[in-house]
Amino acid sequence: MSTHQVREKDIQGTSVNGGRFAASRHAESSITLGGPARPASAHMGGMEKLTASTPVDIDTELAELYYRQAKHASRIGSLRASMDRDAVWGRGRSAGLAEALANEEATLRAVEEEIAPFDAEFRRRGGWSRFFMVMANDGHLHKSRSCHSCTPKTVYAWMPEFSGEDEAGVVEMAGKDACTFCFPTAPVHQPSMLPFRVAEREEAQQRAAEREAKRAAALAGQVVVGDKVFKTVRGAENEVGWQIECAVGSSLVEPVNEDHRAQLARNVAQDVAKARSIAESIAQTVPGYDIDGLLAKKLAAKVKMYRKYGRDVPADYSLEGL
Ligand SMILES: [Zn+2]
Repeated sequence: MSTHQVREKDIQGTSVNGGRFAASRHAESSITLGGPARPASAHMGGMEKLTASTPVDIDTELAELYYRQAKHASRIGSLRASMDRDAVWGRGRSAGLAEALANEEATLRAVEEEIAPFDAEFRRRGGWSRFFMVMANDGHLHKSRSCHSCTPKTVYAWMPEFSGEDEAGVVEMAGKDACTFCFPTAPVHQPSMLPFRVAEREEAQQRAAEREAKRAAALAGQVVVGDKVFKTVRGAENEVGWQIECAVGSSLVEPVNEDHRAQLARNVAQDVAKARSIAESIAQTVPGYDIDGLLAKKLAAKVKMYRKYGRDVPADYSLEGL
């Protein structure tokens, strides 16, 4: 599924069929509903191609163009605001800003010229169904961005992959996600089967399964760290010791240059973070487990080991983050 986004859009709606899309000067923001986004393709060439295009193709292109239109309109707004502020404070950088503004305005005009034939084709065919999702918790699917159940600040994601689809079919699929103002017959007692909702539910189920696996492992006395399972607490503690040994080792290396120093510092931080994360996993298996106590004990043991090997470890040695 491909879904397109519109950011801070201030789009002049085109008046179609009594103004279904008229007056939709709403601020809109960028949201991704997931799924592989179609690349911003080259425009369809020529009018014959356009008249043969499906609503999905046209709206997918339009969504991309609207996104660009919104982006340039937003930049123009910021540039004008900067110029106004400069005028008030008498700062002398307006020449550069004016040039940038002229460039943005020219680009915006070019984008709007690209949009025009798509809008014209929509009008020529007498319009088609379009669907917009409100991207908030409990957001609904609407048939236009001017649904009166929404406010001018409502954030929509256009779903051009459903453009031109039989409205009843999409509403049936949307179930409880469908707006009852836009679609009075929406089956609001059915779960939403919109693809991104289905994916959300599957992800939630997977997270729950992972939590359950962790809980079961804890009951069996195992320690789960990411996708790794330590069969015993002792095994996990040994891994904490190994990570701390690596961290101490890196911290005692004399760097040859600044890049090397930075790399060593990153290694130390990573190893310490791993050690702590494993210790935290042990604490999930062993209630009341002393995480800091384990880390301190392992650090003391490893420092003693390095000293025994003849390494010069300062008396006040410590590891950051431990
Ligand atoms: Zn609605």
